[in-house]
Amino acid sequence: MTAPRERTVVVDGMALARRLREEIASEIAALVAAGHRPPCLAVVLVGDNPASISYIKGKRRACERAGMTSRELDLAADATQEDVIDFVTALGRDPGVDGILVQLPLPKGIDTAAVIEAIDPAKDVDGLTTPSAGRLLAGLPGLRPCTPLGILAVLDRHGIELAGANAVVIGRSILVGKPIALLLLERNATVTICHSRTRDLAAVVGEADVLIAAAGSPLLVKGDWIRPGAAVVDLGVNMVDGAQVGDVDFDAALGVAGLLTPSRGGVGPLTITMLLRNTLEAYKARTGIADA
Ligand code: NAP
Repeated sequence: MTAPRERTVVVDGMALARRLREEIASEIAALVAAGHRPPCLAVVLVGDNPASISYIKGKRRACERAGMTSRELDLAADATQEDVIDFVTALGRDPGVDGILVQLPLPKGIDTAAVIEAIDPAKDVDGLTTPSAGRLLAGLPGLRPCTPLGILAVLDRHGIELAGANAVVIGRSILVGKPIALLLLERNATVTICHSRTRDLAAVVGEADVLIAAAGSPLLVKGDWIRPGAAVVDLGVNMVDGAQVGDVDFDAALGVAGLLTPSRGGVGPLTITMLLRNTLEAYKARTGIADA
């Protein structure tokens, strides 16, 4: 017999994002009312990838609504690596810019790692430079990657106990898997990182009180792998026959998981929210303005 679906709390990432963005907006409004300039995010786009253009539009709109300024800086698809690095370096020196985001992926022929390293670590609101990654590894304060921060926001909002919990992360990318594993460890979870060479993934997943699925593999996690009552955060964004599905079989997980994020409207909206928060934090750290 299947368990009742209502046993699972389905996360409304949009509602949580809206609430957090309102908090950010009112903090910025207070700073501006106190006579300070608003924080400024610079977004660098190289080329004309349609998905990147659409993501940037979303980020610009989110900045506007939060009362932040955003600068969108476009370079032609045939820009050289040197051009891009010079551009990003100049933004690092610009006192009016608090956050720098280079929209990925970059066109072929440009070394992404080299461009990311050109970002001033004090403005690294995506948390992807090696100084930011090193600070996370060392347990020092710093700017953390946005999607992992979004995952923590979801878990915290729903009161998921992390200290002592068995947390299983599927995926070891620099963008999601590794940083969320470190952040969960920082919160005293017992963390296991899985990847494509993990033996018996189902058995490892079955031990998880908290499961983070960030493999980019459609419906990888079956309902009967999940420990009853576990908190399951699905990062997967996969298109199958024109429909978006996650890394977790959502329908099969309903009634088994205690908490479940949908692929659409789950952690996604929180990623941009955390970008806003990181930009505000970078602004405060750079300007020395604590609060209005
Ligand atoms: P990625 O760089 O492709 O990394 C995927 C990771 O998953 C790799 O470490 C890979 O293992 C592992 N993996 C792949 N298939 C597996 C399998 N069958 N069993 C176990 N491990 C497997 O991807 P990413 O950038 O981390 O993104 C992961 C997913 O999250 C994607 O669907 C992406 O679109 C989504 N995402 C969502 C958001 C959001 O805001 N919602 C943000 C970022 C990413 P190996 O290392 O061994 O290859």
